[in-house]
Amino acid sequence: MLDLWYSEYHTEDVRFSIGVTRHLHSEQSPFQQIDFFQSDTFGTFFTLDGLMMVTEKDEFAYHDMIVHPAFATNPDIRRVLIIGGGDGGTAREVSRYPGVESIDMVEIDERVVRLCQQYLPQTAGQLDTDERIHLYFEDGLAFVRQAPAESYDLILVDSTDPVGPGEGLFTVDFYEHCYRALRPEGILINQHESPYYEQYAREMKRAHQKIRQTFPVVKIYEFHAPTYPSGHWLFGFASKSLHPVKDARLDQWKSLGLDTRYYNAGLHQASFALPTYVQQMLDDHE
Ligand code: SAM
Repeated sequence: MLDLWYSEYHTEDVRFSIGVTRHLHSEQSPFQQIDFFQSDTFGTFFTLDGLMMVTEKDEFAYHDMIVHPAFATNPDIRRVLIIGGGDGGTAREVSRYPGVESIDMVEIDERVVRLCQQYLPQTAGQLDTDERIHLYFEDGLAFVRQAPAESYDLILVDSTDPVGPGEGLFTVDFYEHCYRALRPEGILINQHESPYYEQYAREMKRAHQKIRQTFPVVKIYEFHAPTYPSGHWLFGFASKSLHPVKDARLDQWKSLGLDTRYYNAGLHQASFALPTYVQQMLDDHE
């Protein structure tokens, strides 16, 4: 009997494994190693350079939380820029808002998008069908450098970790151009790593420090990601003017009647309340 496992080392002596029923696809793109697997517990999932990206079963938590807190803070968002997010899950959640007029999605690696359309239609299914979505296959940093001033209400950075192609998306240069490209009520949300294991916490603190140099309102919020290192994951909320808790328009968001599996109005407030050890890490850096 075959005994196939996908394993990711979360630290040198901690690893996370999923039993694999089929290795569906493997290729080296110009940017990264891409693999798709099938499993019983997490369904289809894919990895980039061996690191877990998206699983069919738990992607709802990540994609709800990268998108909905920003819309509950400003339900009038019209123009959205997504950087990365090749699996399409973030674009799928944004496209549920009828008030959104345009969604520019800038993914460096076209192969991620094409393979997700083939193997993960749950997230990538509507990338070709929603006319508001415009796909650009280029580096997110280069794209945002060229973006006109005050052209977006929301920028969502759905990136890989700050190594390899994702590195430029964790720089002051990048955050400054995002600031310039946002309208006066603009919001930037970024994938913010985990506070738990040291190596991830270091990147989390570095990113926080850089965003604080650029934006007047900077907050961190958390969610539970079963397949990411430690399961405890963060997003960063940065804005030119709006505070995600004090300015939240939760009743207006609720009136939209969106059916969400992870996010809700109570969780909105709660997710910005951080465990003491995380708050201390951030305070030490402020
Ligand atoms: N939710 C996932 C996570 O955090 O593990 C990641 C989502 S998505 C798959 C990340 C995407 O960012 C990848 O498809 C990768 O190709 C893309 N990416 C990395 N660096 C990029 C860059 N500089 N510009 C645009 N896209 C980039």
